[in-house]
Amino acid sequence: MQTDKLKNLIPVIAIFVVVTVTIFTVGKANLFWPLFYIPVFIAALTFFEAGGLLTSILATIIIFTALYVRPPVEGADFYELLFEFSAAGIVMIGTGLFVGWMARRQQKKLSYYRDTSMIDKLTACHNYGYFWERLEEERKRADRFGSRVALMMVDIDKFKDFNDRFGHATGNLMLQKMARLVDESVRDVDIVCRYGSEEFVVILPNTEQEAERVAERVRTSIEKAGFEGDKDDPVVKGTVSVGVAIYPTHCENEMELIDKADLALAKAKKEGRNKVVVYEP
Ligand code: GH3
Ligand code: MG
Ligand code: MG
Repeated sequence: MQTDKLKNLIPVIAIFVVVTVTIFTVGKANLFWPLFYIPVFIAALTFFEAGGLLTSILATIIIFTALYVRPPVEGADFYELLFEFSAAGIVMIGTGLFVGWMARRQQKKLSYYRDTSMIDKLTACHNYGYFWERLEEERKRADRFGSRVALMMVDIDKFKDFNDRFGHATGNLMLQKMARLVDESVRDVDIVCRYGSEEFVVILPNTEQEAERVAERVRTSIEKAGFEGDKDDPVVKGTVSVGVAIYPTHCENEMELIDKADLALAKAKKEGRNKVVVYEP
């Protein structure tokens, strides 16, 4: 369980204790019982239906016990009070359940929006925003543990020509397949993102020596693949160029890491494309 969820247990328990002690010492359960709604709400918002249900049942039991032990009016009939307060107990349990259900639905919606806002709609890999978030995270992790992060920049070769020849829609199909091939060629821990138009970036956590090998695997898997063209040319070949740089071996921050990978990529393009180049100072 997350620690911030557990932290919410503190006010729940504290309010329960304070209200319980108050109604058992002062005795006015009929006056103080609505205060139990506070921990019921907190528990329902934090632990959803289970939290709302458990706390409201507990509160109801405490109220009934208090009515029995310390009736609000001297000599009042317990069974009459029980009957009167039953409706209050049922409403509290119902409210706890309902608030919990609402909170869970809201949570589900929020995580759906969070997940979809980080996905590139065309290629289904992570998007630019997610890339920056993760790159910073991995850079910090590398600082803390003295490890390395490799960055791979993958750019489709002569993609403009492909688009001009087969059209933008067919170009999109190529982009989608490229994304899939890149994703299948890297390790599970590596993070594939669409950096821009026809460029992908891959963050390789905890990697230095192996980066070139992984990049080479990406390049060859794409070189071997065939892409959908048109009626005259149904299967078309495509290639990518890849630039690789390592943090902190080649740079001091994530901006520089991208610059260095970009420089390596430019070199790969200059040296004839369909090539992997690791940055050299
Ligand atoms: P190079 O080998 O030097 O990378 O050449 P290139 O033609 O791939 O590079 P350039 O930057 O000149 O062209 C990139 C092309 O990518 C231009 C643009 O039409 C195309 N493009 C960018 N985004 C998309 C997209 O989402 N879908 C499609 N189909 N094409 C795109
Ligand atoms: Mg490009
Ligand atoms: Mg290109």
